[in-house]
Amino acid sequence: MTSRRASHRGVSARFRGDVSPEELVGRNVTVDPSGCWIWGDDPEKYGNTSTPDFKIVVHRFVYETLVGPIPAGHHLHHKCEVKACCNPDHLEPLTPAEHSAAHRESRAESISSPA
Ligand SMILES: [Zn+2]
Repeated sequence: MTSRRASHRGVSARFRGDVSPEELVGRNVTVDPSGCWIWGDDPEKYGNTSTPDFKIVVHRFVYETLVGPIPAGHHLHHKCEVKACCNPDHLEPLTPAEHSAAHRESRAESISSPA
């Protein structure tokens, strides 16, 4: 038996049971009719998971895997406002100030628009 610790070929080599992060995330995602990729069972919760070695924030992980690195200090804003969504098309890197402004705007819209 060779030790897994000897292997350092990227993230997936460190996963127990040879499950890559892509597989791990993919197994728990459901695509809903609006195009959101919903992680887990609760759309109101951010997707989090972990491996024996590190933690994964699902939407950030998917964005970095499929789009590219998130600029340092930036938040990933959910344009669809579904916290559990990890569709990179629905995510946008914003500075913390831009992010809170985006949420102020969306709250103002929902208050002013007729039900
Ligand atoms: Zn979405």
